[in-house]
Amino acid sequence: MRDAAVLARETFAAESQDGLARQLPKIAAAFATLCDRASVDMAECTAVGFCYPGLTDPGCRRVVAAYGKYTDAPTLDLVAWGREYLALPVWVENDARVALLGEWQFGAGRGCDDLVMVTLGTGIGAVAMIEGRLRRGRHGQAGVLGGHFTVRLGGRRCRCGNIGCAETEASNAYLPAIAREWPGFAESRLAAEPVIDYATVFRLAGEGEACAVAIRTHSVQVWGAVIVNLIHAFDPVRVIVGGGVMASADTILPALRDYVSRHAHTPWGTVEVVASALGDDFALFGCEVLLRERMQPTGVSR
Ligand SMILES: [Zn+2]
Repeated sequence: MRDAAVLARETFAAESQDGLARQLPKIAAAFATLCDRASVDMAECTAVGFCYPGLTDPGCRRVVAAYGKYTDAPTLDLVAWGREYLALPVWVENDARVALLGEWQFGAGRGCDDLVMVTLGTGIGAVAMIEGRLRRGRHGQAGVLGGHFTVRLGGRRCRCGNIGCAETEASNAYLPAIAREWPGFAESRLAAEPVIDYATVFRLAGEGEACAVAIRTHSVQVWGAVIVNLIHAFDPVRVIVGGGVMASADTILPALRDYVSRHAHTPWGTVEVVASALGDDFALFGCEVLLRERMQPTGVSR
């Protein structure tokens, strides 16, 4: 990235079950290839941004909790790795926070400094910005645990240790379990599907399949409740919704707007609910904003 322009990109399989340490040589090699492809000398580079789907420390130096993805990540010193193998400073940040930074400067958050973002996918990501400042909190947890709001007392145990988290009620990670326990599932068309994810649920619900319709309704209510909780906690003007499940945005967005307009307590007016604009490029754009913020700690230019 340079000045909001993508100069070159490279993707490879996550292979998170093998750990992050095994990926680092591949990442370093890809970095050199990218510089080559973009005709950029490595010495011209300013910094490297690491965008991670889990908790990171508030100083953006390391991964704090892995939640089953790259389980070795909290033990790795990524800053030392960057210094040794790339001769560059490395900054590490939660993926939802990076997504919000990108949307704020270049996407669906432009022109607004009071934002909440929710990502719906394997899990449920969340993040909050108040008056142009990303909230990180004392331990890096502020705002990002929206997927672990309790939405069902006595519900399923979550991988985080809590019971009845939003993720256990409406995320791709728990959807097969949610579906199996749903009344009427065994006789439903959903039970015959080889893969039970939200793409399947929204497709069958669109065809009127009763079990899929019920799970879709329940899921939208859970996501709506998460958003209302975030609105009550962080006082945003706009909520941005992203993540893979938003492939069904035509159905989800109107339902979420309806839920928020009926249940959020905002006497000043109505919170906007919009779809993310950057898609899979959020990490590229967001990391540029992150690195500017980290390299100039007095704040990001707006
Ligand atoms: Zn949880």
